[in-house]
Amino acid sequence: MPNTASPSGTLFAIKRYALHDGPDLRVTIFFKGCPLSCHWCHNPEGIDGGLRILSLPAKCVGCGECALACPQNALSQGSGGMQRNPALCTACGTCAEICPALAHEAVGRQWSVSEVMSEIEKELPFFAGTRGGVTFSGGEPLAQPEFLERMLIACGHLGLHRAVDTCGFASAETVRRIARHADLFLFDLKHMDPVSHRLVTGVDNALILSNLTLLAQSGAQIQLRLPLIPGINDNADNIGRTGRFAASLPGVRDIDVLPYHSAARSKYAKLGLPYPGDHIPPSDPQSVNRAVSLLQNCGLSVRIGG
Ligand code: SF4
Ligand code: SF4
Repeated sequence: MPNTASPSGTLFAIKRYALHDGPDLRVTIFFKGCPLSCHWCHNPEGIDGGLRILSLPAKCVGCGECALACPQNALSQGSGGMQRNPALCTACGTCAEICPALAHEAVGRQWSVSEVMSEIEKELPFFAGTRGGVTFSGGEPLAQPEFLERMLIACGHLGLHRAVDTCGFASAETVRRIARHADLFLFDLKHMDPVSHRLVTGVDNALILSNLTLLAQSGAQIQLRLPLIPGINDNADNIGRTGRFAASLPGVRDIDVLPYHSAARSKYAKLGLPYPGDHIPPSDPQSVNRAVSLLQNCGLSVRIGG
């Protein structure tokens, strides 16, 4: 039985008109908090489950209000605008509240189910007659299972298509519970070798692979995705293992290859975090084409991009 209390969820963004998060036009709900820490993560603001502060010194007009108000003395005026010392900052949010130039931004807040549904309902006219709907992404939506389940049920009452974009790292019980209400899983396969998987994501892949198998055997709709990360998982051995495993799953006949790019670098800078993908070059067309061929050789239909 679903919990009848009304849990709230921590989100860091709601994106409208999303075109790459499932069929047709989507509203994508970004859950905050993820059990993985992938070197190539494009949403670093979603990794930890708490409030984060983004600082944009170029917007600073030099009034000095935030530095006076900061309880941690974490702010100081630099040549390029107000600088935040992440080692001192406790993410209290005071600077974001008072800055007249929006040079500090608080990322993440608690939302109730009804608040999120109000945002989704604004988009209902765009979904009519399409396979469009709502995608729950992150961060990791399975890390907030009560809130996710309530959101899926509420969207189901409106007849909306519901996709869950997941890394698959959750208990089997959570996966079964969520699968009852989801129309599609967008499921990332990051690395087939457990040691390498742990090295680049922080966790072993055994639970992820068993959850993926569980979903496939239960008849869930799954869109597999392979983020292709140069020097990490784009070697022929890993691509072959990925393809053979994917092709062995009941109902899975296709996979999306997602070439790596470093567009998220500026987000890390705003968060005051080092960019963990510094050592990763962009995907080159040859390695993308090679991955596509290897996956096709396993009998999979392959699409580049999501
Ligand atoms: S409050 Fe905003 S505009 Fe004023 S010094 Fe701080 S960052 Fe700059
Ligand atoms: S969020 Fe950080 S920098 Fe901003 S006022 Fe709080 S402690 Fe200071």
